[in-house]
Amino acid sequence: MADNSEALGSTGQSHGGYRRGGERSSPPGRGGSGGPGGRPRPAAGGAGGFRRPFFRRRKVCLFCADKSLAIDYKDPKLMARFITERGKMVPSRITGVCAPHQRRLSKAIKRARNIALLPFLVA
Ligand SMILES: [Zn+2]
Repeated sequence: MADNSEALGSTGQSHGGYRRGGERSSPPGRGGSGGPGGRPRPAAGGAGGFRRPFFRRRKVCLFCADKSLAIDYKDPKLMARFITERGKMVPSRITGVCAPHQRRLSKAIKRARNIALLPFLVA
């Protein structure tokens, strides 16, 4: 009886020890196999994902935020905020304008260009 329980206990102990040993030996083994074939992998960077160093807070659409602000092709000062100094339209992911408003904006900009309120291209 006493022998039995002792054996049980020792088995449990040895099992625990074995498991711990296995866990401990596992990472070096993986690393060793990955070493020849693999590149050095940034553990922390991989998990975080590739973010821009400048994380700009997500803007809410200017026209959604301000209902009184109308997209008007006759308003070159407003349109000018959504084109670059070269005369190109600024993508909505920069300006934060939502898709429906960006669409209306692009139409307004094109219209404004047609009546020479905005430049097509600044050389
Ligand atoms: Zn909007």
